[in-house]
Amino acid sequence: MSFAENLATVQGRIAVACERARRDPAEVTLVAVSKNHPAESVAAAVALGVTLFGENRVQEAKAKIPASPAKARWHFIGHLQSNKSRDAAALFEMIESVDSLALAAELQKQAEKQAKTLKILVEVNVAGESSKFGWNPAQLLAELAALNAHSRLELHGLMTVAPYATDPEKVRPVFRKLRELRDRCADALGAPLPVLSMGMSGDLEVAIEEGATIVRVGTALFGPRPRLVREDAAD
Ligand SMILES: *Cc1c(COP(=O)(O)O)cnc(C)c1O
Repeated sequence: MSFAENLATVQGRIAVACERARRDPAEVTLVAVSKNHPAESVAAAVALGVTLFGENRVQEAKAKIPASPAKARWHFIGHLQSNKSRDAAALFEMIESVDSLALAAELQKQAEKQAKTLKILVEVNVAGESSKFGWNPAQLLAELAALNAHSRLELHGLMTVAPYATDPEKVRPVFRKLRELRDRCADALGAPLPVLSMGMSGDLEVAIEEGATIVRVGTALFGPRPRLVREDAAD
């Protein structure tokens, strides 16, 4: 399958899910996850009108982003180590995966130095998997005010990576819990948190039905990922 065919299929899946959920497809943003794929793949996607890309490693992005069309915009979606915050703040318009107060403080410092504001989402480990990064929901509620106090960070909403499941219905409760947690956080802050980043190639329909405003899709667009680097190594 060509990228163009894959893109049409994914856009069709999004449209059908929106129709079923009685949502406007304009409410759902597609982040094309280009990790492990080269800048040439990004350029091909940009030529077809895709402008938003997701990467999970700073090292890889640092080489790929300058080699990609300037039109491309970038979200960071992986675990970010504090010592990579400077590059991340320079390269990405949004960090979707802020998973600790310490990281938020470091991003604040770097954004200040770079005289910019950074959009952020907080990553939540809804299912409490020991293999995953992200806030525990109770801890997020406790630390939300401190997180939101960072003047250079614009908190837009929540993100989660659901557990792997062959049947996407199995992860519906995870997406629903993220939405409910978002509502509680917005109440606590007294401000809307409009963004819910959830749903990937295998489960984007269910995520959209549960309120996703960003779906992060890699394999269904670009095909299987060449294993350029160890998948499990933290960046
Ligand atoms: C790789 C990745 C995706 C995309 O996964 P696919 O199953 O290939 O669509 C989405 N989100 C995150 C955080 C990822 O690391």
